[in-house]
Amino acid sequence: MKLILLGAPGAGKGTQAEIISEKLHIPTISTGNILREAIKNGTETGLKAKSFMDAGKLVPDDVIIGIVSERVAQPDCANGFILDGVPRTIPQAEALEAAGIHFDRVISIEIEDAVIEARMTGRRVCGSCGASYHITAHPPKVEGICDACGKELVIRKDDAPETVKNRLKVFHAETEPLKNFYEKLGVLKLVEGNQPIESATKDILAALGV
Ligand code: AMP
Repeated sequence: MKLILLGAPGAGKGTQAEIISEKLHIPTISTGNILREAIKNGTETGLKAKSFMDAGKLVPDDVIIGIVSERVAQPDCANGFILDGVPRTIPQAEALEAAGIHFDRVISIEIEDAVIEARMTGRRVCGSCGASYHITAHPPKVEGICDACGKELVIRKDDAPETVKNRLKVFHAETEPLKNFYEKLGVLKLVEGNQPIESATKDILAALGV
């Protein structure tokens, strides 16, 4: 199963990717998490990406395409994978197709901008493993601590309200056209994102036919 989760920042892609990944026993590839890790480790990719990410802009396509091609070639991706937060532009989607990576399903998690803006103030992420939480909708068992790895939860720098507005603008301009791209390939399914996490998971699994 090769799957893409599409949707605005804060739509719930990361949360759903974690759940589906466990259920289907396939890894999640989150370019956002890979880039944040690269910044933390001070790698060349991290240095290139940081200013774009801090401003809520997209990191250049060639950097992203390099990251994804390298990651999907790893042995744990042999039986499939979930892409979270990638592709985000038509050239990224075209590069994946050109590399012979075709998708069984592309799930677009649909949600209004106003709901996203309200949601983002409550998002917390693990500074170590990248797992994501929400202070009311998906709280950790112990406040401020990651359930998965026990490390501290933090607020993402790019979740500041002004940056979120910019990320939503970029989403509508650059990423939303991908719905049409995958609709034409016959693999697109829409799922309502403004509902409890478990209900969205149910809808995604139904859309996947599992
Ligand atoms: P995310 O965690 O998916 O919200 O990504 C955080 C930030 O990383 C984005 O706002 C972009 O700056 C960058 N980023 C992540 N994935 C991509 C991608 N596929 N294309 C371009 N930039 C990306």
